[in-house]
Amino acid sequence: MTELLSIEQALARVLARARPLPAETVPIEAAAGRMLAEDVASHVDLPPFASSAMDGYAVRAADAPGRLPIVFRIAAGVPADRPLQPGQAMAISTGGAVPVGADAVVQIEVVVEQGNELEVPDPVDSGTNVRPAGGDVRAGELVLPRGARIGAAQLGAVAAAGIAEVSVGRRPRVVVLSTGTELRAPGETLGPGQIYESNGPMLAAAFEAAGAIVERLGPVVDDEIEHRRALERGLEADVLVSSGGVSVGPHDLVRRILAELGVEEDFWGVAVRPGKPLAFGARGATLVFGLPGNPVSSLVAVELFVRPALLALQGAADPGPRYERADLAAPLRRNPRRDQLARARTAVDADGATVLEPLSGQESHMIARAAGADALVLVPAGEGELRAAESVRFLRLL
Ligand code: AMP
Ligand code: MG
Repeated sequence: MTELLSIEQALARVLARARPLPAETVPIEAAAGRMLAEDVASHVDLPPFASSAMDGYAVRAADAPGRLPIVFRIAAGVPADRPLQPGQAMAISTGGAVPVGADAVVQIEVVVEQGNELEVPDPVDSGTNVRPAGGDVRAGELVLPRGARIGAAQLGAVAAAGIAEVSVGRRPRVVVLSTGTELRAPGETLGPGQIYESNGPMLAAAFEAAGAIVERLGPVVDDEIEHRRALERGLEADVLVSSGGVSVGPHDLVRRILAELGVEEDFWGVAVRPGKPLAFGARGATLVFGLPGNPVSSLVAVELFVRPALLALQGAADPGPRYERADLAAPLRRNPRRDQLARARTAVDADGATVLEPLSGQESHMIARAAGADALVLVPAGEGELRAAESVRFLRLL
């Protein structure tokens, strides 16, 4: 194997090719989870008018304390039909428009209403319980920048700003192609030497969660004609992700056939455990990942490289992966030459701090053990071990 790239070098090469796909306009109902392709500015002042933060009475602060006739009852969506004159009060609901002439709302709990008259016992500061127009954002101001991911709060903000459609990055079409003569679908009966195909469902789920539109192909037997047919089909997608067949064995056909099909290999081999024999390249606008067959290797490659690529294709400003920091609960042996991503479970200690408990069974075929993990701990290459209580970087598994 030629010189291995570091994780950072490999990620930089991947992201350099993962340019945003063309944008499309979608109704906001369809925008959750998507990435904004342009800045979004508010159509209105937010709130659009000075509104009450409380159920109570709109007054002039200068009139308090005092007894004031109640001349109108304002509800949310039902504004006053006249300005408030000095010496008057208007009943008002939360979200009601504070009338012209009023500069404060006294809350219902601190006043007495009797016979359409209000008694305000204490002084009131101007501005009390009034939400000024544009206090959240002004018309024309930025609500969300290009590249932001539209989660629930962002969708709420866009809707509040009066925006019905947004421009978002197109979702990438991804073909997931499993290779291996030994693979059988779950539910079938295993013959001698056969195993269940797990990478296909696993990768499809991960990519759909990352916003991709996924088509699965295979499993494809380790045969040149079958490989060529399936890989050619996969190359019509925005992203082709194969699993298996990228190592150095006689049945590892993926790289050679990809090359025959015109895929330019950018790199093969990353100094990471598990996941070393990762191939990455492109043909035209199609990105191609050849993931190793071992399920945990594939999983790690998704977290380190494929998901960031899918998010970048959708226009994400920050495609990750995002490392967090926590303390190890038990030591982890380092590898002299390769960074490792060790499977671990997070726990929260009595102070609310996250600690990472490494799992037993760290081999790359052990997907059942990996299923107990919710974190990948980065164990930098080097001698010796990371000690218990040492602060380490980790990725959360979603
Ligand atoms: P390969 O990279 O093709 O040499 O495969 C490495 C290991 O991963 C072998 O033990 C394969 O049987 C296994 N493997 C390959 N593809 C899959 C898959 N889709 N699901 C589960 N295991 C797989
Ligand atoms: Mg194979």
